[in-house]
Amino acid sequence: MNSQAVTCPHCRTQLKAYGHPGIPLHRASQEEYLCDSCTYHADDTCNFPQRPYAKVCTLYENIEESKLYSEKQRHANSFGATLRSWVKRNQALILLLALLLICLLIALSIT
Ligand code: SF4
Repeated sequence: MNSQAVTCPHCRTQLKAYGHPGIPLHRASQEEYLCDSCTYHADDTCNFPQRPYAKVCTLYENIEESKLYSEKQRHANSFGATLRSWVKRNQALILLLALLLICLLIALSIT
């Protein structure tokens, strides 16, 4: 859960933006603005009129959380992770190929 998403003070359920079902509403804490820690402000891609003084925003994306997510994605997409995933999904095929290789080696050693 996003640390700056607005939640119900009683049940802690994340509240959604009015008119935008499914989209969390983010709210700045007291004196600071959301834009100060937003990815879209940092990379200058936001064209919302409330920028850079947004106190409430539906598109807010925290820079630090975004970096952490990118790191996780990069790790998940690495060659090692891909290979492990492929091996896990194709264990039967690998076992069959290993058996065929053993049979081939036995046949070659007999002749
Ligand atoms: S998306 Fe919202 S919080 Fe982010 S820079 Fe734009 S107005 Fe600010």
